[in-house]
Amino acid sequence: MAAAVSIALALEGQLRLDDQPALHQAVALARQRGARLLVLAFRPEGQRLRGPHQRRLEAQALASLQGRLAGAGIPLLAFPQLTTAAALAELRPVVQPEAVLHADESRLFGTWPVAAERFPKVFSQFRRGLERAPEPPLPPPDLAGLGDAWDDLPRTWLAPPAAPPDAAGPDPRSAFPFSGDEPAALARLQHYVFETEGLRTYKTTRNGLVGTEFSAKFSPFLGVGSLSVRRIWQEVLRYQERHGADEGSEWMKQELLWREFFLWSEQHHGAAFHAPGGLQNRPPEWKADRQRFARWTRGDSGHPLIDAQLNELLTTGYLSNRGRQWVASHFVNELRLPWIWGARFFEWALIDAHPALNTGNWAYLAGVGSDPRSFGGAPRRFDLERQVGLYDPERQHLRLWGRSAQEPAAPAWP
Ligand SMILES: Cc1cc2nc3c(=O)[nH]c(=O)nc-3n(C[C@H](O)[C@H](O)[C@H](O)COP(=O)(O)OP(=O)(O)OC[C@H]3O[C@@H](n4cnc5c(N)ncnc54)[C@H](O)[C@@H]3O)c2cc1C
Repeated sequence: MAAAVSIALALEGQLRLDDQPALHQAVALARQRGARLLVLAFRPEGQRLRGPHQRRLEAQALASLQGRLAGAGIPLLAFPQLTTAAALAELRPVVQPEAVLHADESRLFGTWPVAAERFPKVFSQFRRGLERAPEPPLPPPDLAGLGDAWDDLPRTWLAPPAAPPDAAGPDPRSAFPFSGDEPAALARLQHYVFETEGLRTYKTTRNGLVGTEFSAKFSPFLGVGSLSVRRIWQEVLRYQERHGADEGSEWMKQELLWREFFLWSEQHHGAAFHAPGGLQNRPPEWKADRQRFARWTRGDSGHPLIDAQLNELLTTGYLSNRGRQWVASHFVNELRLPWIWGARFFEWALIDAHPALNTGNWAYLAGVGSDPRSFGGAPRRFDLERQVGLYDPERQHLRLWGRSAQEPAAPAWP
């Protein structure tokens, strides 16, 4: 087939075939017009360049997707360094798609789950006020007959995206040693929900610090869009049909709703969400000490427990939720540095970096966001010795990640 007409789908950071409503629309349109399909993977508008760990996952997800689409004769053009608008401008002299459809970020709800005018500042009210149920995921569409030889495209455009040079393979100690592609994401979902005790015991293990199994490890896949949150929710429901709504699976639903809360909060509050004073518009109380911050970004916080957390973060990009809370609380309360600096660094370093989820959590811990205890009061402060007694009494994390002279070089913050 040598159809001149083409329909393009801009993935906008959603690197999967499963549960992609815009892909279904693009397929329907292409069939209706007798057109060929082209898939574009550029940087969504407004998204910062990703850090090295997340770029490695992104490259894996892209290469896998490119291979699967190529099987159907559909090219995937990937220029993650260009925004969609810039890449489309480069594309137009060569190919002019009749329509460009844009994928949306994976969310449980397609529209406001709580009316925008009543959107609450705290999670408990959000959860109680939910006005609809999460939507079910869509299966991958049938792509047969939408391909072409695409002789008009420069071959260099079709080359698989290269992995970033500064991201070595995973450290053997990593809590996220997985590849970032969609088949790996779906395999991890099945593993955690059905093949192990993971989901059932989630409530008791989720505050762990070491290893692959204490929590689900879905966030890096969600971050590069190789997994759909609706697919996760549906698999949790399927688990509950078989085994009942135990506390592990109910807690997982709650955490997925936290994700949703921050995504919709960011949309609701706009610039205030990311502002130093946060949703509470509180005057900043910090010391803008650049030297201290520079040492911290190299893993030198002055506290061995925090240094071990930073070492894990710099080396692997992953950090447990508990570890992130300790690091952020220490940054704000002990070092008294500007929380927006810490958040910006995390957004570069994390393998699952997401601006809304990262800022939402940092602002919460800095006492300017949605922590109900902080309204009119101080940010919550973690007593590190007590925390370690509760969550790592054997000091397993410190033994694994405590600084030593043999530490391999981790990427440095530019
Ligand atoms: C300072 C700080 C910064 C953070 N930055 C990010 C970030 O950039 N990207 C990110 O995805 N998460 C972020 N989180 C939230 C949380 O730490 C991670 O989502 C979680 O640790 C990922 O591991 P997991 O998938 O094994 O989590 P699990 O405990 O297995 O949770 C399952 C899923 O629930 C969601 N979830 C869990 N906890 C939270 C939470 N506190 N807020 C929002 N969603 C949550 C995630 O989608 C996660 O994948 C941050 C937390 C803190 C304290």
